[in-house]
Amino acid sequence: MLLKDKVAIVTGASRGIGKAIALLFSKEGAKISAVARTEEDLKKLKSEIEASGGECLIFKGDVSKEDDVKKVVQETVDKFGRIDILVNNAGFGIYKPVVELTAEEFDSMVAVNFRGVFLFTKYVLPYMMKQNSGVIINISSIAGTLGVKNMAVYSATKWAVNGFTESIMHEVREYNIRVASLCPGSVDTNFSNVAGSNPPSRDKVLKPEDVAQTALLIATLPERAMLSHLILRPTNPR
Ligand code: NAP
Repeated sequence: MLLKDKVAIVTGASRGIGKAIALLFSKEGAKISAVARTEEDLKKLKSEIEASGGECLIFKGDVSKEDDVKKVVQETVDKFGRIDILVNNAGFGIYKPVVELTAEEFDSMVAVNFRGVFLFTKYVLPYMMKQNSGVIINISSIAGTLGVKNMAVYSATKWAVNGFTESIMHEVREYNIRVASLCPGSVDTNFSNVAGSNPPSRDKVLKPEDVAQTALLIATLPERAMLSHLILRPTNPR
């Protein structure tokens, strides 16, 4: 078991990439704190994890709300005693030309995709710094490395995540804390149903499990080695 006795917080763990990461990390021995807004889906995840002998706390919460974030972090430490891994995965995109995008839609993408990453990082880091170890994996996007027609604001939030990630990496590497942005191309989840026009066919894009396997690699390298920025592409999507 590669993550035996480790404690991981995974946001957006109710489905898609976050759920795949929570399940794989649990299979590898990690205790999981899972965060999302849909309690029913979180309960299903908890049952799946417990059925295979793992431990899972679930939190119905919104990553953009500071009180929700503080509660997750505090209760995770109260229950499990430490935090080894934070996966900032919760996020969404609205596919529209910028002239049609409302200011509220702009605010909501910035709040979930960027403010949420900031809040969890801010509240988890003091524990990792005290432990003198930790791994933070921010699920960004290939859209955070290039421009995407009709996804300008989504793309901008992911550029923000990448800039934040790299800066934090420099800030905390002296505490042996590794910080990575993992930037997938198209993944077969609910996100691609909602966000994309003309998405590549489902059987050709990445699976959530592929992203989970990459996150596991980031989390399990020897402590002296850090993957800080990674693009994961489907090999032959069209
Ligand atoms: P998904 O299936 O739609 O899952 C998104 C997850 O985020 C859900 O668990 C959702 O749960 C949670 N979430 C959304 N807003 C939240 C909030 N305010 N507070 C807490 N949780 C929230 O999409 P996915 O593809 O797995 O996306 C996961 C991440 O990968 C996102 O950051 C996305 O930008 C990134 N990504 C996806 C793709 C792709 O093609 N799928 C490609 C590159 C990057 P609730 O609705 O229950 O809250």
